[in-house]
Amino acid sequence: MKILVINCGSSSLKYQLIDMDNESVIAKGLCERIGIEGSKLTHKPTGKSEFVVESPMPDHSVAIQLVMDALSDADHGVIASTDEISAIGHRVLHAGMIYSDSIVVNEDVKRVIRECFDLGPLHNPANLMGIEACEKVMPGKPNVAVFDTAFGMSMPEKAYTYAIPHEYLEKYSVRRYGFHGTSHMFVSGEAIKFGGLDPEKAKVIVCHLGNGASISASIGGKCVDTSMGLTPLEGLIMGTRSGDVDPAVLQFIMNKEGLDINQMLNILNKKSGVLGMSGGVSSDFRDIAKAAEEGNHLAEVALDAFRYRVAKYIGAYTAAMNGVDAIAFTAGVGENDVETRKAICEYLGYLGVEIDDEANNCRGKNQVISSKDSKVKVMLIPTNEELAIARETLALV
Ligand code: AMP
Repeated sequence: MKILVINCGSSSLKYQLIDMDNESVIAKGLCERIGIEGSKLTHKPTGKSEFVVESPMPDHSVAIQLVMDALSDADHGVIASTDEISAIGHRVLHAGMIYSDSIVVNEDVKRVIRECFDLGPLHNPANLMGIEACEKVMPGKPNVAVFDTAFGMSMPEKAYTYAIPHEYLEKYSVRRYGFHGTSHMFVSGEAIKFGGLDPEKAKVIVCHLGNGASISASIGGKCVDTSMGLTPLEGLIMGTRSGDVDPAVLQFIMNKEGLDINQMLNILNKKSGVLGMSGGVSSDFRDIAKAAEEGNHLAEVALDAFRYRVAKYIGAYTAAMNGVDAIAFTAGVGENDVETRKAICEYLGYLGVEIDDEANNCRGKNQVISSKDSKVKVMLIPTNEELAIARETLALV
């Protein structure tokens, strides 16, 4: 069975066609500049050469049609016709408090995605456009919505409730939701399998450390806490996001600089994190590490603070679960940055964590990186959100 996975942004569309018989990627690609001049499709069929189509894409329906043409193209294609696609899985950011699982799309589901536009203003409208484009271009094929907030819905009230007047939760669903949920679900599940842990009881902390960064605590694969909140701004220090700050900092800077709240949030989302802390060196952790190595003090502080905050959250989540069996690192930094993994684990001696330097010197594959005497299993588990979406889709169709 072949499943198409779609991840729509407001002007972009990423896709992967996955053969679920062996979970292999048959083709993947990206449409850029949808609705803008200079639209372009880059299509990468596995085992064949990549090709680029430069053609106007006034909306997501035209983009999807071009993807279908590319997938079934006589020369570069990978399928004889789109009839071979059994279902489409969509990454959808926000389901508010309504859905805690993936779901086959119908009119009700689309209404909920629409009702959550103000909770996910950048993503939900684009995600809905992707679903409606697939309905138009491939009528009758099942579409499945896989929500980034679903994993966090199992958090208990004490973890998801903000200490603000209760009426805001009642009236506007203001609470902590968590994001990167598909990645946390996938990696915690893989960590349990790969580490040979008890699938019902394993206490696992997943550190998703990329340009966006978040951390989750789960017991038996069910999330009990996660660091992102109502929006992805809360929690860890990220490439350009501040993570946790005293909210009074906002008012102080706004008054001093004459900013409105939108400008202030733009600074916290796009100009903060290691980019802001380093005085503008870069949001890319490789550049930050290089600058730190060359003696740039601000870059060094940014990197130290990033690692320190991850270690603090690991401590907090270990306390929340009254123990931890495994810690898994994933995403760009977590999968590739040997030094950052080691530096974070150096804070965890009190938990009996011991890293095996030789095992830790690896990238991009499932690997136990703790020593055999370590009291907690530390692992590197590459994330694969597309495969997770395809598995969810397969399970529902
Ligand atoms: P992601 O958002 O998961 O794609 O992760 C992107 C981040 O991973 C960027 O900041 C990259 O600098 C970082 N990254 C990728 N490879 C490495 C590496 N070898 N060492 C350190 N950071 C890396």
